[in-house]
Amino acid sequence: MKLVKEYNKQFMIDHFEKDKDLLIIAGPCSIESEEQMMRVAEKLVSLNIHYIRSAMFKPRTSPYSFQGIGFDGLEIIKKIKEKYPIKVVSELVRLNDIPIYEKYVDVIQIGARNMQNFELLKAVGKLKKPVLLKRGFGNTIEEWLNSAEYIMANGNEQIILCERGIKTFETATRNTLDISSVPVVKGLTKLPIIVDPSHASGRRELVTPLALASIAAGSDGLMIEVHPDPENSVSDKEQAISLAEFENLISKVKEINKTLTKQR
Ligand code: PEP
Ligand code: MN
Repeated sequence: MKLVKEYNKQFMIDHFEKDKDLLIIAGPCSIESEEQMMRVAEKLVSLNIHYIRSAMFKPRTSPYSFQGIGFDGLEIIKKIKEKYPIKVVSELVRLNDIPIYEKYVDVIQIGARNMQNFELLKAVGKLKKPVLLKRGFGNTIEEWLNSAEYIMANGNEQIILCERGIKTFETATRNTLDISSVPVVKGLTKLPIIVDPSHASGRRELVTPLALASIAAGSDGLMIEVHPDPENSVSDKEQAISLAEFENLISKVKEINKTLTKQR
């Protein structure tokens, strides 16, 4: 893990260079319709949030679950970018799709299930785009950082790590948020790390408390699942929060971040 450990250009990703603010990525689990995405984008922009989740392909545990809208989502992505000053974050699942992602997606997400898909890691390592690398739910921090190393070893240093919970014996939550990974990772590398409390908990009432805990632990940002009509979300509805709940979460997060920044 030579490169990851020696990485010293903290916050080289555009966002962090411009303002040292938290990196917040929010949006629905998956793109469902233009109306759904426009409603989310409008809210995010009004809250000064610069990144929207825009998943076209969903690697689902069950083959019978919604697999994503596919490239029909591209038209929606194009329209969002025409209308709003917002960047899109979208999960890449196939090598063949890289040219399209290079053209239309601002941050390429590598999901938990593909954290050790080494061919995918090598390929995004050759791109000049930020990569959001989620931790596999069965992977150690060392394995996760080795995956970041694959990306770096191929030339791409623009990596954002994302803790999203790991499998434990606990069944009350979908995964167990490994909050300690935030300070542990910070002790090992200067790469930015954000936390996804939505997939970590799988329960909407836990998203805000875990988001606050993550910021308190030193996370550089958050990834949050937000839906205009959470109860009717096509995927992951149990963890989706409404636009109003999201606004409330953001105001609490900003408050705690302000207090902490003053203290640090
Ligand atoms: C996601 O963020 O859309 C997702 C599927 O999360 P994970 O890869 O962490 O399960
Ligand atoms: Mn989801």
